[in-house]
Amino acid sequence: MSQEIRTRFAPSPTGYVHVGNIRTALFAYLVARAAGGKFILRIEDTDRNRFVPDAEKMVLDTLTWLGLEWDEGPTLDGGEAGPYAPYHQTARKTIYKKWADKLIAAGRAYADPYTPRQIQEFRDLATHNKQPFLYRDHRPTTTEPWDGSTPLRFKSEPKSHAWHDAIMGDLSAGAEAVDDFILIKSDGLPTYNFAHIVDDCEMKITHVIRGQEFISSMPNYLNLYEALGEEPPIFAHMPHILNSIGNKKLGKRDGAKSITDYRDDGFLPEAMLNFLASLGWNDGTEQEIFSLDELVAKFDLSRVGRSGARFDEKRLVWLNGQWVKRLSLDELYVRAAEFWGEHSRAAGDDERRKVLAVVQERLKTLADLPSLTEYFFARPTPDWTMVDDNKQLGKIPRDELLELLKIARNALAEMAITDWTEEILQSKLNELLETTGSKPAILFSIIRYALTWAAFSPGLPETMALLGREETLARLSSTAPNDV
Ligand code: GLU
Repeated sequence: MSQEIRTRFAPSPTGYVHVGNIRTALFAYLVARAAGGKFILRIEDTDRNRFVPDAEKMVLDTLTWLGLEWDEGPTLDGGEAGPYAPYHQTARKTIYKKWADKLIAAGRAYADPYTPRQIQEFRDLATHNKQPFLYRDHRPTTTEPWDGSTPLRFKSEPKSHAWHDAIMGDLSAGAEAVDDFILIKSDGLPTYNFAHIVDDCEMKITHVIRGQEFISSMPNYLNLYEALGEEPPIFAHMPHILNSIGNKKLGKRDGAKSITDYRDDGFLPEAMLNFLASLGWNDGTEQEIFSLDELVAKFDLSRVGRSGARFDEKRLVWLNGQWVKRLSLDELYVRAAEFWGEHSRAAGDDERRKVLAVVQERLKTLADLPSLTEYFFARPTPDWTMVDDNKQLGKIPRDELLELLKIARNALAEMAITDWTEEILQSKLNELLETTGSKPAILFSIIRYALTWAAFSPGLPETMALLGREETLARLSSTAPNDV
């Protein structure tokens, strides 16, 4: 029987869930799903100083929103599911103790006899001698049995390591990269360095997929795998995500928000997944739009690039617009529920659906919905600064524009209610171009402003058809009253 592919996402609940975390989760998910394997969620909560109470919930919410279902791990109702439960590291202390005891018995772990101050002195001495600090240079010759009141250290074997990374290729490091790191802290909890290896072994993880910041610790990890007599999994370290300019690692200051903020800002999970997948991966073709199913079918770690991927929020907005267009009207209507503006909310389902159908093409994020739709449900307040700021209209005297509007209003008023359809409105507007001798960019723009007072709107005939004859004429008259 071939081995089951098992990947894991192992977040530390220390803050918000950012794009880097979730890209890791996505890639791990894809590797598992592509192979018909399992995707495991493990909460690495041993760093109690950095613990943030709501962070785990945010991880679960984010994965759920994106549709990245996990097969084992904490459940949404606060339980645990899977053969290797518990999946919270703080609940696995006895397991780490068992593995630590094995190392102690094999002479590969020892009690750290030094105070933090003494260790600092060693460090200072190394700096003074312009040498790298290695704890193992100060390894005590005789040690007391470990009673848990001091840190437990790994007794490393100074040697070089060479290994293969599924993304970064062949890597190696000399013995100076290996040191006696802490396995269990004096608070009784394991370090990340120890706990994740124990868990990856216990949980039969086949692929460790994570950020490249862990590469420098790989010699230590490989050293520990050897001491434990365990076969290391496949490692895949992902390149950093860079800011939009591409000159440094993406940070909060570059506008990288938590994934749930993107949800609240009206982004679709489909677009977010598509965007995250494209940060460092492509399928070698020009294709840009991928559904999660397509990603599962096409994703391959060997096509993940080694250099940093630029985080371009404009591209995310573009992708979101693409996904909004692809949704059926029914589906979009459901997704848009929370985003309508005040007046739209008060309208009926039918009316809202009609409006949504008309704006779907132009909707970039669901948060744009009010600015694109409110004027259908409530008469907007004129804002002539929009006209003044318009490149072409701004140059034309106001009374000329008002005159154009009056002509348009009178011509449209001749139309019977039964003729008030998109097609007939379109030809009426074309006729108006001829009779007024005006350019479309002028005539149609001023009518559009008078009807919507919005920066963007659907095509004029569609907008007018939807507003209806009476309301269209009323808006034109109120902007350009006959007595002016
Ligand atoms: N808890 C680690 C982190 O959040 C996980 C790293 C790993 O995947 O091994 O960075």
